[in-house]
Amino acid sequence: MSAPSNTVLQGRNGVLPAYARQDVTFVSGDGSWLVADTGERYLDLVAGIAVVGLGHCHPAPLAAAREQLDQLWHTSNLYWTEPMAELAERLSARFGGAQAFFCNSGTEAVEAALKYARKATGRPGLVALHGSFHGRTLGALSVTGQPAKRAAFGPLVPGVTFAKPNDVESLVAAAPADTGAILLEPVQGEGGVRPLTPEFVAAARTLADELGALLVLDEVQTGIGRTGNFFCFEQLGVRPDAVTLAKGLANGLPIGALLVSDEAAGAFAPGDHASTFGGNPVACAAACAVVDELTDELLAGVRAKEVLVRAAFPDARGRGLLLALDVDRPAAEIVAAAFERGVLVCTAGERTLRLTPPLTITTDELEHGLAVLQEVLP
Ligand code: PLP
Repeated sequence: MSAPSNTVLQGRNGVLPAYARQDVTFVSGDGSWLVADTGERYLDLVAGIAVVGLGHCHPAPLAAAREQLDQLWHTSNLYWTEPMAELAERLSARFGGAQAFFCNSGTEAVEAALKYARKATGRPGLVALHGSFHGRTLGALSVTGQPAKRAAFGPLVPGVTFAKPNDVESLVAAAPADTGAILLEPVQGEGGVRPLTPEFVAAARTLADELGALLVLDEVQTGIGRTGNFFCFEQLGVRPDAVTLAKGLANGLPIGALLVSDEAAGAFAPGDHASTFGGNPVACAAACAVVDELTDELLAGVRAKEVLVRAAFPDARGRGLLLALDVDRPAAEIVAAAFERGVLVCTAGERTLRLTPPLTITTDELEHGLAVLQEVLP
């Protein structure tokens, strides 16, 4: 393991220990590679946990962000800016007709979705799934079905019920008549990379319609090409009422978005919701470039690389390049062993390894990463 510089060591003491970080400091990145302050290079199969989809310092969002930095950084949402409007137009086109609320993270996009659903339907009930992850603020945590993450922070937002993933009976039983939203991740990311079946999502669509609730898909992790389509819901054959996005949207600049379908639009009026930095022109300019880069060819490449991973690891679970492997020991041990061989992977639970490489990773790079994983896996 590399030795950090004195400055970094001193600075580390000033950071609240909310994360279990590896003992490495990165100073630059290029494509699928990260470079540490020691000069060592690491093949990045994490990509900032499904964020840096186009790879580090991709020229398109880099140029767009640089150009925007020279022009205008911030105006507040009292005014319009071009990048925000252009991003809204692009996302609407990809969705097939939607309006956007921009914010700065996935958690905030979920918060916006919860408020939107309550206002749109006039119903407070929120139905989510056991094992889900929707963020850490109190609202988003309230719909996160992981007791360990919630335990120390109650009381949480009332009106939330949980159902078992891929269990339609459980979903129906968990949804009261006053349900305002059914909130699902198409693939539970933090919860272990567990895909929902198309049948279950279709049943949730039907149930939401019967109840007069919104079907909200949290695509913070699955969206922006991660699963091989721009939105994962395209693979599931449903049209949601709303979608949350963040992570990959600006390839690493902070941004989040709630998209509301044209059919479900109209609930928010001026003053209902806001975010000082939401729609930031630099982040939106980068995001426009990201969306433009996600061509059919790139998305087909994601699906082809999924096949490559599955050939090496037939038990891999997930969709596209959001994949996981169950291991028979603490996954952190495998993460450490791969790190020693210059490959970064992360976990999704105690005994689950998660692979979320850049969507642009080359076949050679991916094959190298897979070979290292085969070496370190028992
Ligand atoms: N929703 C999902 C599905 C996520 O995977 C995450 C983060 O991992 C979030 C919400 C929270 O996003 P953020 O960390 O950007 O607030």
